[in-house]
Amino acid sequence: MGAWYYIVNISYFFAAVLFIYGLKQMGSPRTAPRGIKWAGGGMAVAVFFTFFQPAIHGAWLNYLLMVIAMAIGGGGAWITGKRVQMTAMPQMVALYNGMGGGAAAAIALVELYSHEAFIKGEAVLFMAVIGALIGAVSFSGSLIAWAKLEGKLDKPFRVPFQQLINIGLVAIIVALGIWILMSSLSAPILVTLFFVVAFAFGIVLTTPIGGADMPVVISMYNAFTGLAVAFEGYAIGNPAMIIAGMVVGAAGSLLTWLMAKAMNRSVSNVLFAGFGTDDGSQGEAIEGEMKSVEPFDAAASFAFADSIIIVPGYGMAVAQAQHKLWEFCQILKNEHHVDVKFAIHPVAGRMPGHMNVLLAEAGVPYDMIYDLEEINPEFPSADAALVIGANDVVNPAANTDESSPIYGMPILDVASAQEVYVIKRGRGTGFSGVVNHLFFGDNTRMIFGDAKQVCSDLSAGLNEI
Ligand code: NDP
Repeated sequence: MGAWYYIVNISYFFAAVLFIYGLKQMGSPRTAPRGIKWAGGGMAVAVFFTFFQPAIHGAWLNYLLMVIAMAIGGGGAWITGKRVQMTAMPQMVALYNGMGGGAAAAIALVELYSHEAFIKGEAVLFMAVIGALIGAVSFSGSLIAWAKLEGKLDKPFRVPFQQLINIGLVAIIVALGIWILMSSLSAPILVTLFFVVAFAFGIVLTTPIGGADMPVVISMYNAFTGLAVAFEGYAIGNPAMIIAGMVVGAAGSLLTWLMAKAMNRSVSNVLFAGFGTDDGSQGEAIEGEMKSVEPFDAAASFAFADSIIIVPGYGMAVAQAQHKLWEFCQILKNEHHVDVKFAIHPVAGRMPGHMNVLLAEAGVPYDMIYDLEEINPEFPSADAALVIGANDVVNPAANTDESSPIYGMPILDVASAQEVYVIKRGRGTGFSGVVNHLFFGDNTRMIFGDAKQVCSDLSAGLNEI
């Protein structure tokens, strides 16, 4: 083996170390931007040294194809990455994740179409087949997830005997996979059929799931893509792909599990229960009325408070109200000397860390942001809680109503603050479709309107005091 073999493999190992270090840095919002750069640097090292792979030495057509692919992929990602709105981030992640799964499936396709994988031994063939399956499912499933989040497929699509069809497809995939494994030479028709059924399975598995559950599904497909890349890395003997794939697979699996846990649901319930697809509201009947207040009057109460806890939710993201909210908080802090804290629920918004990202974008310092466990004991001593576009994450039914679909989900205990103010546009329910008793409470006042406009009005109100 020549010197280049060792140089390329050592550089792949170095790239993998950068991936892991980058991921470690992504554990905190403070260091996450640096983490992205380290991991990106790792990817640049891996891509650069791939040009020196002994296997493609001197194959000029391959170099040309690699440069064209990088220009198309890198250029497209650069432009869309610059343009994407924060609220559209989940669908962008879905799309790029699908590309990763598709790339892993494409590697598998090349391997299984040629006789190489069949000569390299059973272990390599097994890895190529498993990677092909997971990559293909992740590709088609992620594209469906993207279409749902983008509003291009807005209805959950359930067919009769859905679970039977799922089981049938899995049985066909297993049979075809075993057939490929037992073949001594590549059989292109068999391989093509295997891919077609795997793609179909990704579609059939994802179409019945409600659009709002997609972030959990995307996280699961992200784990799938990582595993597919790792398996294909083994099949083609690429250590960077093996390590990076395993890291993504492990991180994605953990994230999927944590998201489902924070919603008090199991991953299988997310996949097979069709939750969040009802239009009607659910839960116990409610007595009483919502009491509304004008922003100017609410501003007067805030100005004379000692401490306020702010709870952002999905509506803040929809309204893109984070900058106006922070302007309002700065006036409260600097001119009225109010102690302001932000409380973030782990599943507020529609993706993990959604609120953290938006508040960081607006410039809110990290030391003003608190997790659920840290902040809940502080609500009873807060003069006011201001809920901005959050609903499910502050719904007391999660603690009190055993019949509620969200029963058991830990919530932010805003109801125990002295006064509660809720900014939302109307009487709409949140993602779960469950009515919220909090809005009818004696100490709750509704400030109806778009969150961004209301924040501007609150600031104007404070400035007039
Ligand atoms: P919810 O979806 O429960 O509620 C959002 C509220 O925002 C709605 O009641 C809506 O009321 C209001 N709203 C919408 N647009 C605006 C606007 N422009 N201005 C003001 N208010 C607005 O959000 P939460 O953040 O409380 O909860 C998140 C939910 O999403 C949880 O159920 C969670 O399980 C789920 N989920 C979260 C994931 C995550 O990773 N974070 C992943 C998957 C699901 P109105 O229409 O009246 O204005």
